[in-house]
Parts: sequence; structure tokens; C-alpha cells
Amino acid sequence: MSVLVVGSVALDSVETPFGKADNVLGGSGTFFSASASHLAPVQLVGVVGTDYPLDTLQNAFKSRPIDLAGLEHADGPSFRWRGRYRHDLNTAETLETKLGVFSNFRPKIPEQFRSAPFVFLGNIDPRLQLEVLTQVAKPKLVACDTMNFWIESRRADIVTLLGHVDLITLNDAEARQLTDEANLVKAAKWIMERGPKHVVIKKGEHGAFMFTQSSIFFAPAFPLESVFDPTGAGDSFAGGFIGYLAKTGDLSEANLRRAVVYGSAMGSFAVEKFSVQRLLEITPDDIKRRVGDIHKLVNFEQEL
Ligand code: AMP
Repeated sequence: MSVLVVGSVALDSVETPFGKADNVLGGSGTFFSASASHLAPVQLVGVVGTDYPLDTLQNAFKSRPIDLAGLEHADGPSFRWRGRYRHDLNTAETLETKLGVFSNFRPKIPEQFRSAPFVFLGNIDPRLQLEVLTQVAKPKLVACDTMNFWIESRRADIVTLLGHVDLITLNDAEARQLTDEANLVKAAKWIMERGPKHVVIKKGEHGAFMFTQSSIFFAPAFPLESVFDPTGAGDSFAGGFIGYLAKTGDLSEANLRRAVVYGSAMGSFAVEKFSVQRLLEITPDDIKRRVGDIHKLVNFEQEL
């Protein structure tokens, strides 16, 4: 089954303790697509400006099942994000966000994308995330993501959005900021009271929790020896998670738990190189092996 994603298609400039990359492919829609397309066909909706290296994007995605028919080309500068990570690779420091053509963007979902069974509203203005939902026909699952930038400027819209999604992924700091609850269990409850049946709270290198009304599941992050650039880990996690659900079409709790592990595996690949580089290199065997390694990491015999 296919996944429709609406998200940012950006040019990122990133500085980490291990190097710098300027004007590389980035954005929530880009990372999500690069990740989810290993598991299911992806339909990407977003906008780029006149300065976007479209051939680089097309070339990067040419052997992947990613339909770019919903990528609008607008007059003006592309969305640009500049960030830095110091030794704590869990926290991105945003140095600059230039919305460019994104500030006048109104997502238009192509006719052929409107019946996508899985919809992911990537990190963009929550008003646009809501607009997307008026254009799609009864998806099997709608998930969304957000970040501090939008929680600060559009909190009320995010709360409205919660009433229209089945699942949300966000990181621990965003969950605390959105709910005003320091405790993550309480924060997840606060969110579930407003709509989503599932809340996935990512904790960077410390793994991710999935909360439902009646259960809590935890998956560790894969302990990599070298993390190169954490940018896109969250979107790649979401791509692995939703991509796996779309591949299997199964929304049982057992399968959602497996999906969290696929999310963790795909997030771990994203951080091994700059931009979407590593996500474009990996093979189905690499993914299978990493999911197996995460399984081994947490498998133990309970003493009876
Ligand atoms: P993450 O997966 O959370 O590391 O997200 C990284 C991506 O988010 C980067 O590639 C940025 O281009 C993109 N990004 C940063 N700020 C924003 C924003 N305010 N709205 C949409 N996308 C953003």
C-alpha cells in the first residue's frame, strides 16, 4: 500500500563535530521519502523554489519508488534550514530557518494521490497539515509530526490537528513543550486525550516509546559506534515506522510494535552520513540485519 507524505523539501546546511555540509538535500518530506521508500511506494507533496537542484533530487530518488508528481516548483527561494550539533548529538541547534517559497505554499494533493491509505503529515505549518486532510479520502491511518518551531508559533493549530490524526511522532523535548508536562507518560496521556490513539515519543540515542491507552512499548536506538549527522533521524524513523505499516497493512498492536523497531532501524541509518546519503545506499539485507540486531539487543530470557 502507498504512503502519501506532505513535508518540507529543503536545502540544509549542517555542522557537526565531524564536519560540515552546505546546501544538501534535506527536509522532513525528503528524509521521510528516502526512508519509507525502502518499504512501500511513496507519493511526495511539497514545494521547491527556483534555486533547488532538482536534478540532484531526481537523481537521488531515481531508483526508488517515490512519485514526485506532487512536488510544486514555485518562484522564489527554496526552504533553507541551517543547524549545528555540538558534542550532544541529540540536540539540534537551529541557526537559521528561511521559509522562502514555503511561506506561500498551499498543498495541492494530486487526484491520483487522494486515496492513499497511509498519510504522513511531515513537519510543516500545522495549518497546512490540516489543509491536506480536507483533500484526502478516508485513509486507513493518518500520522503527523511537528517540532519546536511550530509549537512556539502555532500551538493552537497543533492542538486542533491532534483531533484529526490517529498517531503522532515527536521527540521528548517537543512532547514536554507541547503539553507543559515534564513527565513523558503524562505528556502522552495529555496528547491522547486530544485525539491520537498512538503517541510515539522519540528520545534520540535513548530510543523511542509508543504509548496507547492501555500499553507502553519501548524500542532502543541502535548503539552505533559513530554517529555522523543526526539531521533527519526523526523523519527517517517516521519513514521506517509508517513505511512498515503500509507494507504490511496491519494495524494490530503487535505489528505497530514491529513498526517502531523498523523506525528505529531506519533512523540509525540516516545518522551514519550527511543528508540522505546513507539511506540511498542501504539494501533490504542491511535493513533486515539491523532489525535483527535490535531484536538481539533487547532479547532476554525471563527467569521463572
Ligand atoms: P529531524 O528528522 O527532526 O532531524 O528533521 C530534520 C529536517 O527538518 C531538516 O532536514 C530540516 O530541513 C527540516 N526542518 C527544520 N526546521 C523545519 C521547519 N520549521 N519546518 C519544516 N521542516 C523543518
